[in-house]
Amino acid sequence: MTCIKTQSLITAFINDELEIDVLEAFVEHIRTCDECSEELEVYYALLTAMKQLDEDKNLSNNYKQELIEKLDKTEERIIHLRYNYYRKKGILVFIMLLWAMFFSLQHYFDPPPLENPVTESRFGLRKSFMEDRFDKTSEELEGFLENQE
Ligand SMILES: [Zn+2]
Repeated sequence: MTCIKTQSLITAFINDELEIDVLEAFVEHIRTCDECSEELEVYYALLTAMKQLDEDKNLSNNYKQELIEKLDKTEERIIHLRYNYYRKKGILVFIMLLWAMFFSLQHYFDPPPLENPVTESRFGLRKSFMEDRFDKTSEELEGFLENQE
């Protein structure tokens, strides 16, 4: 982030109006750039004092310390938000992995489907079929079928 860009965001920063990505770049620049950090100090003191006067509050006596605390808190918030973001992503990936594992393991742990051989059947035998396949004569087969009924 450039100095011009950073300084244009000072008011928004003081009013807590920056999105996390911009906020992160902003704080990073403030931490490394003396010029912008001084600029921020001046604006912070000015805007905060104006706000305090507006709201009939007592004026702070240490804006610099307050600003340091605000920057620290902001960094904590960024870390917290980032952590939450990755944690949520991590949980999602973890759930998907579990899901995939569940479905692939289910295959191994499930008992094989029970075989269900036909022991009783009311299907009649087709004689023409049986004549070709049965060793016995068709008369014997007919007798056998009649006994079954
Ligand atoms: Zn700068």
